[in-house]
Amino acid sequence: MSLDSIDRVAVLGAGNMGHGITEVTAMAGYDVTMRDIKDEFVEDGYESIAWSLEKLEEKELIDESADEVLDRIETTTDLEAAVSDADLVIEAAPENLDLKHDIFSDLEAYCDEETLLATNTSSLPISDIAEAVDTPERVLGLHFFNPPVKMDLVEVIYGEDTSDEAAEAGYEWVESIDKTPIYVRKDVRGFVVNTIVGPFGGEPAFMVSEGEATIREADATMSHERGYPMGPFELADLTGIDVGYHVRKEGGSPIPPITEEKVEAEELGQKTGKGFYDYEDGDGADYQPDDVDDFDWLRVEARMINRAAFLVGEGVATPEEVDTGVQLGLGFPEGICRRGDKIGLDKVLEKLETLYEETGSDRFEPHPYLEELVEEGKTGEDAGEGFYEYDGDDGGLDSYHDLNAELEDGVLRVELDRPSRMNALSGDLLSEIDDLFSSVDTDEVRCAVIEGAGDRAFSAGADISGFSGVEPTDLMDVTPAFETVNDFPRPVVAKVDGYCLGAGLELALACDLRLATERSEFGAPEINLGLIPGGGGTQRLLRVLGETRAKEMVFRGEHIDADRAEDWGLINRSVDREAFDETVDEFVDDLRNGPPIGLEIAKKVMNEGEDASLEAALTMESQGFGLLTSTDDVLEGTMAFAEDREPEFEGE
Ligand code: NAD
Repeated sequence: MSLDSIDRVAVLGAGNMGHGITEVTAMAGYDVTMRDIKDEFVEDGYESIAWSLEKLEEKELIDESADEVLDRIETTTDLEAAVSDADLVIEAAPENLDLKHDIFSDLEAYCDEETLLATNTSSLPISDIAEAVDTPERVLGLHFFNPPVKMDLVEVIYGEDTSDEAAEAGYEWVESIDKTPIYVRKDVRGFVVNTIVGPFGGEPAFMVSEGEATIREADATMSHERGYPMGPFELADLTGIDVGYHVRKEGGSPIPPITEEKVEAEELGQKTGKGFYDYEDGDGADYQPDDVDDFDWLRVEARMINRAAFLVGEGVATPEEVDTGVQLGLGFPEGICRRGDKIGLDKVLEKLETLYEETGSDRFEPHPYLEELVEEGKTGEDAGEGFYEYDGDDGGLDSYHDLNAELEDGVLRVELDRPSRMNALSGDLLSEIDDLFSSVDTDEVRCAVIEGAGDRAFSAGADISGFSGVEPTDLMDVTPAFETVNDFPRPVVAKVDGYCLGAGLELALACDLRLATERSEFGAPEINLGLIPGGGGTQRLLRVLGETRAKEMVFRGEHIDADRAEDWGLINRSVDREAFDETVDEFVDDLRNGPPIGLEIAKKVMNEGEDASLEAALTMESQGFGLLTSTDDVLEGTMAFAEDREPEFEGE
């Protein structure tokens, strides 16, 4: 059982999840058969896939045509035909253990004994499902998130008997379809992501039930102050209040009275027109930033961090896996372990202990791993160690949390790594950019390239929600990141694929060269918020575009596409997606092999000269020129020219 042996995939179920899993599997180049119990279900699922692929083709998010992807998908209602030559089967049938048992015992009868058997269950133990077969070592969970086409995360879950070989093959397969896997090493209820999200919805519901907070206060604080994509009550209304209710009930967890009342009144959220908010006669989730009051957010986060301590302490997942899980699976602004380390684990523990003493509720019982960390003095970032180690953060390129940096053959490759937030620039990310560009050893760097993680954006703007209490305008004043990139003594290239908006555009403008895919969009939408571009945006746009076009972008706040951006001189090239990497590599090769001192001086003289009088700028230029004539690089350049060979510049 290995990735090499997976060619054909079968997906059982053509519903919400099944058709999405089929689509992403075919998009990755696999042949896949989708099976449901009735022709009409299979047809509906297939039509949904065709519709979605057409949209992806229109937006140039797939490299081939929708029809080419569809050609790899077969459909059937015949189970044996679907699975008999499959190397991997993913079951996505309704959440019912008896039904899943029937399916898995049929699978054992029809499949080859090497076939990997996966379930997409969200709440049933993998081990319980595997009871139906004699070979439980090849049964694992592959938990996709809804909708699979958009959601990057897949939990790879071990049942009690799952072999490492099977789990590894599943993990590698998930990587091969361009999704991000995390291991869930023990079959715990809720796996990783749902274990953490439980208190996010549950604790505020208890607090409101107990009269300690209002729904609006809770939602406004958690979203506007703590940066979550939406408030807990808004989220419950969106997913269905009954869904969380049943999960709690089946898991034997206490149910907040307010949740019970809503379920009894059949006010289940958006789907019934009314839940915690009124969607028919009211304005829906209409909480505002000024609803933020003294809501006790630490009580909610302390419980989530305690759950993270359980997962890490029991060996279910590493802090990195937990954090990847909540960021990609829930859109959390940062990892929950990381957040614990920033708050201080001693404060978190104290909060839990106080609440445990006051209420006697098990919900607040600190997990021994959290106690152990605090006893050992590992209280978080300030102490140098918590869930993560910070002592080693000596400016090493792997010490960043929100960006990935790699230095190879003189090229510093930087990836803004917040794909769940379209790489929005948070305070942390801006500090990391600043730190990286001010501390990296420039002798080792010939040029730098900045790009965004994921397939949607270079960076879609500033993550205002992450800056608790800080006004976005203040933020732009305080961050030196844009100037640091602008002043970096080596050429910096912005590699833009997707949205490049607001602060993202400002970062790209601070780079020297900008290359983009044709589908990319550029904009300075700040004016729509009543703001103006910060981070040097107004000034750099003026210099790059000239007044006429710069004012159009800033005043109208509209997006422009890559072709217009190229036309206007905002970017150097707008390139077809397929040719993009190659084009960027050509630029990078030229910069990497260019004379480092020559490029440094050219950058400096051009950047500074722009703001000086012509006379002063010409003086700068001639000083730079003079300085360069004494370098070995100029000698090498002229010799290579005379000898008709490529120069080899040393930067001396
Ligand atoms: P769904 O009801 O939309 O689809 C289930 C499909 O399975 C239906 O079309 C049904 O006809 C079909 N089916 C029934 N018996 C079958 C059989 N014997 N063989 C093949 N197909 C059969 O449900 P869903 O939301 O897609 O959920 C499927 C699974 O994925 C469940 O285990 C669920 O817990 C899990 N899951 C759901 C979500 C979500 O958000 N919906 C997220 C992650 C995981």
